[in-house]
Amino acid sequence: MSSTIAEPVQTGSKPFWNEPVADFSQPAKREAMEGALRDVRAQLGREYELLIAGRREKTGDLLKSLNPSRPAEIVGVHHKANAALATEAVEAAHAYFPVWAAVAPETRARILLKAAELFRQRKFEFDAWLVLEAGKTWPEADADVSEAIDFCEYYARQMQRLAKPDPLVQLPGEQDDLVYLPLGVGVVIPPWNFPLAIMVGMTVAALVAGNTVVLKPSSDTPTIAAKFAEVLLDAGFPARSFSLLVGSGAVVGDLLVEHPLTRFVAFTGSKEVGLRINELAAKPRKGQRWIKRVIAEMGGKDAIIVDREADLDSAVNGVVASAFGFQGQKCSACSRAIVDSAVYDQFVDRLKTEVAALKVGPSDDSGNYMGPVISQGAMKSILEYVEIGKKEGRLIAGGGRADGDGYFIQPTVIADVDSKARIFQEEIFGPVLAVTRARDFDHALELANDSEYGLTGAVYTHNREKIRRARDEFFVGNLYINRKCTGAMVGAHPFGGFNMSGTDSKAGGPDYLLQFLQAKAIGEKLS
Ligand code: NAD
Repeated sequence: MSSTIAEPVQTGSKPFWNEPVADFSQPAKREAMEGALRDVRAQLGREYELLIAGRREKTGDLLKSLNPSRPAEIVGVHHKANAALATEAVEAAHAYFPVWAAVAPETRARILLKAAELFRQRKFEFDAWLVLEAGKTWPEADADVSEAIDFCEYYARQMQRLAKPDPLVQLPGEQDDLVYLPLGVGVVIPPWNFPLAIMVGMTVAALVAGNTVVLKPSSDTPTIAAKFAEVLLDAGFPARSFSLLVGSGAVVGDLLVEHPLTRFVAFTGSKEVGLRINELAAKPRKGQRWIKRVIAEMGGKDAIIVDREADLDSAVNGVVASAFGFQGQKCSACSRAIVDSAVYDQFVDRLKTEVAALKVGPSDDSGNYMGPVISQGAMKSILEYVEIGKKEGRLIAGGGRADGDGYFIQPTVIADVDSKARIFQEEIFGPVLAVTRARDFDHALELANDSEYGLTGAVYTHNREKIRRARDEFFVGNLYINRKCTGAMVGAHPFGGFNMSGTDSKAGGPDYLLQFLQAKAIGEKLS
């Protein structure tokens, strides 16, 4: 089938470089951000329709997304999909797949570079949506939007590379080639915590590889998804190449995963939902002609080891940033500090002082280091863990709600936690840090690896031999030495975890797109 996709103007193919984050200490950047917050505030409460392969659709069944800093404030009102529309979205994606797959990879890559440019032009506006719908502080929001731009820039270049694979061994009398083909319809299911970057990364990886997409965003951050859909269309992705299907995971999630025309699922979220998707996708349905592929990135219980030979100030700073940045709601967040007994008391004292100084409040006020947690449900579950933690260890900071109408929780630290404790083993996904004493470095490594997860980890030590051991023995997908365990950068830190943290897909790495492609080898006998 031929394509009629317009080629956007070449945006350049400079080597990849990470998008710089805004320095909000500069008056011009502050003013731009304040202006964006005013503009976005003026748009709050608007209604958004579903987008089914280019057709706008209302169901009248409405979902309201709230500002977690001020829950009385409605950010967006969204029509929710039902089963019939979910089915239609998969079928429409299937029907359009051959057209989009036939578009040259170079053209798809250029459309994606155009999307990066549009995000850049609207960066502060997107920052503001993230502040108001996800409760991100200004720097956290800007890092999220920068990462979304990075994914577009990086995957565009990776597709350009994969369009011209390395030559194969050429057998005498044959021409031997390998080409990468897209898979088909991909269902993309992102979480709310990187409401732009992760959603953009999974969606554009699928699209640039030539697949069509049904995107089901998180019900907590649907407005950010609606704004992303605008960028996709403005960049030149054909209206029929994707659907935006806002709706409850419980109502449409199973249907999308189980549909026989779904070829793959790209999921990022909790272990429970990821395992369920994996199980449902494994069972072939009537008429299904393939084994569904599941790319699932899930939870974490990430540890930072603080060795007796560490720079303690830098270790305390790294633990605080990793544990309490975005209120601890990162899959990579440090929720276990494992500290050598020789420096334990000193570390805990310094940590206590630093944590007591963290300001919590509305995330649109740039004076606050921490904003709200995402929802009332999240707040309840985190506070339950705080109560469990008070019984499992010694509370040294926080321990309850913080002042304000929003979903604010104090940064909480519980010391002297045993490795069998629930707060040492279970993902809390909030600003709660367990501190555990290790006898020595061997014991610290043993404790760090005592987890069903294996996403990120960090070690603070000057000792080269201990660094070597951590490189070999700390069993995580993303290990950091003498720096915090959050803040993976596209291209430099391909991201994905071991064990129950997921399929180790390595988002933002050179192998990521291969999961959205299938390779075809062709051997032609030359006469
Ligand atoms: P979640 O599992 O509750 O939801 C994730 C997505 O799945 C949402 O879009 C949700 O609507 C959808 N969903 C829910 N039930 C579904 C079902 N039955 N079928 C299909 N889809 C369904 O997770 P969350 O609360 O949005 O995000 C937090 C979790 O995500 C944490 O566990 C965190 O560690 C994890 N996470 C992991 C990574 C990573 O790269 N490993 C990155 C970010 C977040």
